[in-house]
Amino acid sequence: MSTNTFSGFDLPEDIRMMRDAVERFVREEIVPAEQALPPESRGFPEEVLKPLQEKAKKAGYWCFDAPTEYGGGVFGHPPPIVMYASTPEQIEKYVVGSMANADYGFTGIAESTGGSDPARAIRTTATRTDKGWVINGTKMWITHGQYAKYGVVYARTDAGVSAFLVDAGTPGMKVVRMLPVLRDHWPTEIHFENCLIPHGNLIGTEGKGLELAGKWVTRARLLYAARSVGLADEALRIGVEWARERDTFGAVLATRQSVQFAVADSRVDIDAARWLVWEAAYKQDQGRDVRREAAAAKLFAVEAASRVVDRMMQIMGAMGMSKELPLEGWYRDLRVARVLEGASEILRQFVGKAELGPAASGKKAKA
Ligand SMILES: Cc1cc2nc3c(=O)[nH]c(=O)nc-3n(C[C@H](O)[C@H](O)[C@H](O)COP(=O)(O)OP(=O)(O)OC[C@H]3O[C@@H](n4cnc5c(N)ncnc54)[C@H](O)[C@@H]3O)c2cc1C
Repeated sequence: MSTNTFSGFDLPEDIRMMRDAVERFVREEIVPAEQALPPESRGFPEEVLKPLQEKAKKAGYWCFDAPTEYGGGVFGHPPPIVMYASTPEQIEKYVVGSMANADYGFTGIAESTGGSDPARAIRTTATRTDKGWVINGTKMWITHGQYAKYGVVYARTDAGVSAFLVDAGTPGMKVVRMLPVLRDHWPTEIHFENCLIPHGNLIGTEGKGLELAGKWVTRARLLYAARSVGLADEALRIGVEWARERDTFGAVLATRQSVQFAVADSRVDIDAARWLVWEAAYKQDQGRDVRREAAAAKLFAVEAASRVVDRMMQIMGAMGMSKELPLEGWYRDLRVARVLEGASEILRQFVGKAELGPAASGKKAKA
C-alpha cells in the first residue's frame, strides 16, 4: 500500500516511481529475453527464467501482489490466493516457500462438469477418515499442474465444498495430460484416486471453500484487469509508432481518419479501464468491499484490451499477425482471459445484480 494518499488523477509519488522502475526492468530485461525466444516456444525455458527471476528478486520486484510479511516484494509465483487464509504453519511451508523459491501452486476448482458454477458442478469428493482426508475425482483445465509443488483442491465433503492442500507427488494424485488451448500456456487434467492427505490440510473451515475462493477472487480479478491495461497501453504504443512511419498511397497511415479513430477509441478504452482499476485498487487499499468494482474492472479491462490489441493488429497488417511481435500472443491470451477468473457473462451478471438489487431475482422491493 502507498504511504501517500491518493490525490486525484495521478498516482502517489512512491507508486509512480515503482511503476516507472518496473517498466524499465520489463523493457530492459524481459522484452529482449522474450524477443530472443523462438516463435514456437511456449513460455520461458528454465535457463532463461531463473536468471530473470534472480534479477527481479535482487531489484526488489518479487511477488508485488503478495503481502510483504510473507516475502512479497510481479515476477515470482504467488501462491493460490486462498493460501493467505491458511494456518501460520501452512503459510510458512507453502506461501513463504512459493515466494522464496518461485514454487508453483495450482488452484483446482474446475471440472468437466463446469467452472462458472462450481457449487453445483464440483463432483470431486473428500471423505474424512481416521488417517486423514481421502480425495477422489478429476480436475480439468488446471494451470501449472505439470510443475506445481502443491495445489489447492476444491472437493465436496459432508459440509459442502471445502479447500484442501495437496502436495505434488502424494500417492493417488496424477497429472494425466496437458490440455492444448488457444494460449501458449496450456492447462492440465489431474486425477485423484484415493489420494490420502493429512487432516491439517483443510484450508479454513470445512464447507466454506467457495466462500473463501470468492473472497480472494477479487484480488485475482484486479490483477487481470491491471495486466490488461498494461498490455493494451503497450499495444497502442506499438501500433501508433507503426502508423507514424508506414507509408501507403503516398501518405503515412497516421493521416487516415480510420487509423485516427482506431487510435482514439483505443486511448479512450485504456483510460477508462485504468480508472476502473485504480478506483477498485484504491478502495481495496482502504479495506473496503470491492467485489463489484473488481468485477467491473476485470470485465471492462479485459474486453477493452482485446479491442485495442485487435485494432493495432489491423493497423499493422501482416506484421500485426507476426510472431515477431507480442500482439498475436496477447490477442490469444486476452481471448482466454474473457473466460477465466469469472467469464465476462458471469461478471456482467454480478454487476447487474448489484445494481438491480432483489428485483434481479424477481423479488419485489419492500414498500
Ligand atoms: C487456459 C485455461 C486455464 C484455466 N486454469 C484454471 C485453473 O488453474 N484452475 C481452475 O480451477 N480452472 C481453470 N480454468 C477453467 C476456468 O476456470 C473455466 O473455464 C471457467 O470457470 C468457465 O467454466 P467452463 O469452462 O466450465 O464454462 P461454463 O461454466 O460451462 O460456462 C460456459 C459459458 O457459459 C457462460 N455462462 C455460464 N453461466 C451463465 C449464466 N448464468 N448466464 C449467462 N452465461 C453463462 C459462461 O460465461 C461461459 O462463457 C482454466 C481454463 C482455461 C481455458
